[in-house]
Amino acid sequence: MSHPGATASDRHKVVIIGSGFGGLNAAQALKRTDVDIKLIARTTHHLFQPLLYQVATGIISEGEIAPPTRLILRKQRNAQVLLGDVTHVNLEKKTVESVLLGHTYSTPYDTLILAAGAGQSYFGNDHFAEWAPGMKTIDDALELRGRILGAFEQAERSSDPERRKKLLTFVVVGAGPTGVEMAGQIQELADQTLKGSFRHIDPTEAHVILLDAAPAVLPPMGEKLGLKAKERLEKMGVEIQLNAMVTDVDRNGITVKDSDGTLRRIESACKVWSAGVQASPLGKDLAAQSETEIDRAGRVIVNPDLSIPGHPNVFVVGDMAFVPGVPGMAQGAIQGGKYVAAIVKNEAAARAHGTKPKPRVPFKYFDKGSMATVSKWNAVAKVGKLEFGGFIAWLAWLGLHLIYLVGFKTKIATLLSWAVTFLSRQRGQLTITEQQAYARIRIEELQEIAASVQESEKAAS
Ligand SMILES: Cc1cc2nc3c(=O)[nH]c(=O)nc-3n(C[C@H](O)[C@H](O)[C@H](O)COP(=O)(O)OP(=O)(O)OC[C@H]3O[C@@H](n4cnc5c(N)ncnc54)[C@H](O)[C@@H]3O)c2cc1C
Repeated sequence: MSHPGATASDRHKVVIIGSGFGGLNAAQALKRTDVDIKLIARTTHHLFQPLLYQVATGIISEGEIAPPTRLILRKQRNAQVLLGDVTHVNLEKKTVESVLLGHTYSTPYDTLILAAGAGQSYFGNDHFAEWAPGMKTIDDALELRGRILGAFEQAERSSDPERRKKLLTFVVVGAGPTGVEMAGQIQELADQTLKGSFRHIDPTEAHVILLDAAPAVLPPMGEKLGLKAKERLEKMGVEIQLNAMVTDVDRNGITVKDSDGTLRRIESACKVWSAGVQASPLGKDLAAQSETEIDRAGRVIVNPDLSIPGHPNVFVVGDMAFVPGVPGMAQGAIQGGKYVAAIVKNEAAARAHGTKPKPRVPFKYFDKGSMATVSKWNAVAKVGKLEFGGFIAWLAWLGLHLIYLVGFKTKIATLLSWAVTFLSRQRGQLTITEQQAYARIRIEELQEIAASVQESEKAAS
């Protein structure tokens, strides 16, 4: 649709924050719309988060789930991809501030789509992150791969049985889909891929613990599927501890409070955090400048058309938004991104024809179901009222993930990696580097050094 006489500078400016499911789908759905799109994200890639656990456990490479956004949108002439960390949205001036390597950029918008997702929540205990990384980014997944494989390496060199036990105990906190997938894969990595490759330790003696403060595994998927997943994990050797709340995490393990109030300790060198999410702080930024409200998880409570109160051209989609009945899942973000793009498209067409746009209809989520893999050949799935588990669910999981992976090359590469792992027990991505495994600790050490230098300079002046 062409706007007669429109130039690049007076074209309607759409700024999208985030290149995840919500942001990317919004941008792609505006391909043939006469608008100027600037997609700003803090990473150069679009990340397929549901497969991060496979990067962490060496099944696939990071490139397979993180294609460059720039290349995905290469042929979309109305879209420009910009790298930057968005720090502020100025609702009055209608600008977005983003930072790249210390430089701040201001980008004006007519329509703004916020799709900045969510980060890990440690429920107010952010210091847990140092010893129990979450699983939200490629950095997280590679760091975890380094820590998991690094623990086996250290155990091989240890002559102290207590230390070996600690190194071979892996604790996954949070029994949602990510926790279940992670625990199952660490167990399979130990029992199948690493078996027989060490001389001093037996990797199959690794002890994987999946724990949660809730009384069930996979609570959002219902009791029946939760039990199925639990039984399968236990059969594989994973120990499930429910009603167990983590009260502390340190280098050597975690402290847990059971439902009867008893405190106990689990000695473990490698901990994974997959409990709880906190929406992007940009929601709070919006709330500080408007009548927008956020919920406890920091999600923006949006209007029925996903806009924010008093700002009909500022939309929030995906994990950043709270919409009743819409789960924090890929489909919620994809459908939200496409829905907002349809509004933008409709209103651009009306502007071009000098007519009134069709009234906005409220966003309606179509529930396509949810699934989680438990182990090789075994998954659980819930589609409408239908609940099933086992091999059929696993096949459905495989097919659906292939459909939603972005790009033909990515799909082929992933399929090949899966063939290697599922048919042979091998894994093609077991490379680790010291930087990956210890970057977070080193960065924190550097920050502490910098802070103490600043303090002593202050004291001296
Ligand atoms: C480990 C894991 C497993 C999952 N498994 C499943 C699953 O099996 N099925 C399912 O349906 N869902 C799953 N999910 C949830 C699903 O991935 C999310 O619901 C979905 O990614 C949300 O999309 P989004 O666009 O809102 O946010 P995201 O996909 O998180 O994208 C956010 C984007 O915003 C960018 N960004 C964030 N802050 C800023 C900033 N300040 N400045 C610039 N850019 C910023 C990020 O770099 C990213 O590009 C999983 C999530 C995780 C973490």
